Amino acid sequence: MSVLTAKRLTTVALAGLAVFAVAVPAAPATAAAGTVPAGPAAVSSGNGGPRFQNGAPGSDDAYFPYAGNGGYDVQNYDLALRYEPPADPGVLTGRLSGVATITLRATQDLQSLNFDLRGLDVTGVRVDGKAAAHGPSHNKGNAEWSQTQDDANRIWELTVGLRPKLKEGRTTTIVVTYGGATGRPLDTTEALYGWVTTADGAMVVNEPEGASTWYPVNDDPQDKATYTFRITVPEGKTAVANGLPAGKPATRAGWTTWTWQASDPMASYLSTASIGDYALSRDRGPRGLPILNAVDDGVTGDELTETTAALALQPQMITFLESQFGRYPFESFGAIVDDDTIEYALETQTRPVYSEVADEYTVVHELGHQWFGNSVSPADWQDIWLNEGWATYIEWLWAEHQGTATINDQFTDTVAVLDENDGWALNIADPGRDSLFEAPVYLRGAAAIHALRAQIGDDAFFAGARLWLTRYNDSAATTEDFEAVMEEASGQQLGRFFDDWLRDGDRPEMPAV
Ligand SMILES: [Zn+2]
Repeated sequence: MSVLTAKRLTTVALAGLAVFAVAVPAAPATAAAGTVPAGPAAVSSGNGGPRFQNGAPGSDDAYFPYAGNGGYDVQNYDLALRYEPPADPGVLTGRLSGVATITLRATQDLQSLNFDLRGLDVTGVRVDGKAAAHGPSHNKGNAEWSQTQDDANRIWELTVGLRPKLKEGRTTTIVVTYGGATGRPLDTTEALYGWVTTADGAMVVNEPEGASTWYPVNDDPQDKATYTFRITVPEGKTAVANGLPAGKPATRAGWTTWTWQASDPMASYLSTASIGDYALSRDRGPRGLPILNAVDDGVTGDELTETTAALALQPQMITFLESQFGRYPFESFGAIVDDDTIEYALETQTRPVYSEVADEYTVVHELGHQWFGNSVSPADWQDIWLNEGWATYIEWLWAEHQGTATINDQFTDTVAVLDENDGWALNIADPGRDSLFEAPVYLRGAAAIHALRAQIGDDAFFAGARLWLTRYNDSAATTEDFEAVMEEASGQQLGRFFDDWLRDGDRPEMPAV
């Protein structure tokens, strides 16, 4: 993600910036008081305790205890969506109906499992082709489902009881039919996210746990899956998702279906299905990599000029980052530039979303995330600095490559900004739920990466970066994993270094740069 305030601080325009408020870590989210949805009580196997269990309604994330679920691993989401944008552009409400076909593999013996689904009503569930009953049917032979929508405690769960029960290692296909009115969902900091209804469609940006506002999901960055999107919209609207188009859009009776296939494993927070009055254009990156851009026809004037110039640099940016970090990790790239104002950009996989304008440094930031954040994702949300520190550092690398500012000058300027604003107070390796996108996560993060480079030298630094990207490709990892990789690449003990640069609440020891 690139937040405008943070982005301003991170790019070369460091002079004259506004003082930023230093974030106070929020109290960690605790297990909420609401009812935890679960299936029927575990059934004893008859030889010592329960065997088939209810999959957990959360995934052990300290900040978002009910995002994600336990007991299974999604292989593929096939999402057939039908969307009516607002009839009156002054009332930002649309209508979404969906059929989600979810193929998953049990990672424990399960008698029930949960999906996250917020603000939409389920009308039917089928398990391996058999209809499940709604509510506790007390019919032992039947699968059944129920929903919990507890806004106060942020618990939004769909629970599916499985009959027959599902043995560990077995695969099942669950089809959920659902729908309802769409609005403008807010995250815990009251920023817009998820399926954001716009006057001309929807801008879909899920980070951190907003995917549940448009499909039933295991909303945990550790559970990556492939996706197919079949998005039906009124004729004339364009729907753009991750990956590549699968065939041409098909129009019937005033509705057009756009099909997209995302074949690279993807974390749910990086999925999108944005809808608007987009003009599509194509370009090619290294080795003929398909680049597909969608720019809303409401982006005009200077913003369009700046956007067009920045998007034209994408092939060069990919070539440059490949020279630093190895091959671009996915099958395609491009941009979705919407005319709505959510005021941040997001690195949705293969196709970042930009709000109002895509400028050069935001584009290279979101491109950098394809390696750092998308190919290797944070295992837990507290590891967010691994995303934002690296993406900010990649802005610095690009500025140096373009001859705009040396990396050492950018480091020095950023340290000065952190000094002036008490920017060392925040422990960026555990910033708190509501400080994920505060400026120090970006700035202290990038400074820590440059200090690491100074500490271990260029050869070990770039070898370590590539080892990190190779070892955890299409996966997720923690800050501790990153420290271990860098110790391996450098042969140095770096525990004290990382505590000093990430965790301690005061100014770290400065390297000579
Ligand atoms: Zn970012």
